[in-house]
Amino acid sequence: MIIKNAKVFINGSFYDCDVRTEKGLITEISKDIVEEGFDASGCYLFAGFIDAHFHGACEAYCGDSLEKMQEIARTLPQYGVTAYIPTPIVKHDEETKHRLRTIRATKNVPGAEVIGIFLYTDYKHRSIPYYPISVAPSKEDTLELADGDLSDVRAVLYAPELDPDRSWTRWLRENGVLPLIGFTEGTSEDVRDAVKNGARLTDHYPNGFPLLDHHVSSAVLQCLLEKDLYLQLNGDCIHVSPEFIQLILKMKGDDHVVAVSDSSPLMGKPEGEYDMFGMKVFIKDGAVRDVNGKLVTGCHTFDENMRTMYAHGFSLETIGKIFTENAAEAYLLKDRGKIEVGRKADLVLMDKDLNVLKTMINGEWFYER
Ligand SMILES: [Zn+2]
Repeated sequence: MIIKNAKVFINGSFYDCDVRTEKGLITEISKDIVEEGFDASGCYLFAGFIDAHFHGACEAYCGDSLEKMQEIARTLPQYGVTAYIPTPIVKHDEETKHRLRTIRATKNVPGAEVIGIFLYTDYKHRSIPYYPISVAPSKEDTLELADGDLSDVRAVLYAPELDPDRSWTRWLRENGVLPLIGFTEGTSEDVRDAVKNGARLTDHYPNGFPLLDHHVSSAVLQCLLEKDLYLQLNGDCIHVSPEFIQLILKMKGDDHVVAVSDSSPLMGKPEGEYDMFGMKVFIKDGAVRDVNGKLVTGCHTFDENMRTMYAHGFSLETIGKIFTENAAEAYLLKDRGKIEVGRKADLVLMDKDLNVLKTMINGEWFYER
């Protein structure tokens, strides 16, 4: 397959060039391809989107059933998502085991690919009204939560102050899993030290963190100051105001922010009343809130959030970086997530208003509008 005349997004900039794919891989990026190909004039070509914080879609949580996981895999490419990291809320119960086993059985189904699991644990310190639980992490506990298998676990959520000697943080990272900071009431020192010992990312920042208080040296402040720490961002401009996103980007630069959907079974649903985690929630004005008006989760698709940020005046280059390229860097993925010779031919063609026109997976068009 040859895609010609697109504006191709590579390392933060757009280039007028052609892209050749063969056997599922990108094999040439050049201005000099003479053969005929698919004419993508006037379109943007991005690497396939990786959604790294994804609780569910299609009215199901990740791992509900194999059929629902197949439906999710088929559905996501229409939003440009070609790979995702299911994010089950994990507890010591049979339901968690069922979910993990179902997610693990989902490999190789047609559509968006499962590339690991993000364990959304109770290693939280910050109490939230509907979820007042705090458990200190330990190797034994984490292994049990992972159903005995860490090999495909990509990240584990924790509040760093719950691992004061950082031995769990180091152990996790040594086992190839990324410690991921969130739901913390910790100090600056907790974050600084956690990063030194292997923490690489935050959860959706600053959601689940305390408010930024200029009197206090806090985790929420330190996450902005740590230059090597990647921040997840819900880019719907509701979970985080556009001005706060500007602050985050000024502090972190375009290359240390990773947009995530934080999607729920309610992704893409119309306004109305729904049941979630057994509680009543409402979708109104693009947000999912509980009866007290508190934001609960996201309901927007990945590409919708790109358009929202574009409408708020963020540049295409910034949007391209945080939505399409940074996940591969943050999650240490070398085989996909960038338009580069040798990487997977997972690609998204968008029009000038950032609507998904076509999505390629493994070198084949999987979705066409
Ligand atoms: Zn979430």
